[in-house]
Amino acid sequence: YQAKRDRTGVEVYESKRDSNTPDRLGLLGDLRRALDAHEVELHYQPKVRFDGHVAGLEALVRWVHPDRGRVPPDEFIAIAESSGLMPHLTEYVLDTALAQVAKWRAQGLKVPVAVNVSPRDVHTPGFAGSVAARLARHGVPAGALQLEITEHVLLEDPQRAADTLAGLTDHGVRMSLDDFGTGYSSLVHLRRLPVSELKIDRSFVARLAVDTEDAEIVRCTVDLAHSLGLLVVAEGVEDDETWERLRDLGCDAVQGWLVAAAMPPQEATAWLRARGERGWHRTRPAD
Ligand code: C2E
Ligand code: MG
Ligand code: MG
Ligand code: MG
Repeated sequence: YQAKRDRTGVEVYESKRDSNTPDRLGLLGDLRRALDAHEVELHYQPKVRFDGHVAGLEALVRWVHPDRGRVPPDEFIAIAESSGLMPHLTEYVLDTALAQVAKWRAQGLKVPVAVNVSPRDVHTPGFAGSVAARLARHGVPAGALQLEITEHVLLEDPQRAADTLAGLTDHGVRMSLDDFGTGYSSLVHLRRLPVSELKIDRSFVARLAVDTEDAEIVRCTVDLAHSLGLLVVAEGVEDDETWERLRDLGCDAVQGWLVAAAMPPQEATAWLRARGERGWHRTRPAD
């Protein structure tokens, strides 16, 4: 493999040679060990409403390999998915995120957390029950957990997926449909999935201010979501102009570097403390 450095000087694992099987196997073994050793971390990225209210934080997994440096999540999640390690990774992420929510709640910071789950997880027998058991074990109410899924959950066994998700929503866990616009984005899927939130993929948001077609796609998605009673979150919001366009289009909340990048737990705690009361505002009075 080759390593290069990102702009913060951290080594980034070069993915190009990943089709190389021994390399993938090596990485898989290392990931398994890293999970056991609790070397995989979660960073948290806020979702904020246009009135400044912090709607929640999304947990994003981070792994810094001892030799290879930071491995992008897309990279090792694909490996976990194709190897059977995914349920273990998801349990790890759920436990870590729920422990953090419990900690925040104990400090008076009552903010929900969103966890990404893969289609594999939704098709794992007993998944809904295992989530409920984890909530109970961490003493976290179901309403403080949101699960981000993609339309891919419907590819394999749509009925079973729908049943599992219905079990989770019956329990009080909220569902969010992630990366909307990149998959099939079918109306049938929207009707079939018990989601309360829809996240517009970053690829449409990024060029919203300069590309009229992307702007139209976002407008239609917001209107469609609202007509179905769903909240709309735009991901990947990086500048003021995009924020303003989204607000004018009636989007409900945003997530992106304009607000904050994904932060390690301590930094996220400080961020919540500082912004929690008055919320997040684009131009805040000097502290
Ligand atoms: P996602 O759930 O759509 O997460 C959003 C991705 O966009 C994250 O990348 C985040 O760091 C990045 N992002 C956020 N704001 C901005 C922005 O303003 N500009 C740009 N350019 N990017 C932004 P990340 O962390 O690399 O995660 C990639 C994907 O990996 C996630 O996409 C999600 O599908 C998956 N993933 C991450 N953590 C987990 C996990 O714990 N479990 C599962 N199953 N999947 C995960
Ligand atoms: Mg997500
Ligand atoms: Mg997303
Ligand atoms: Mg995405």
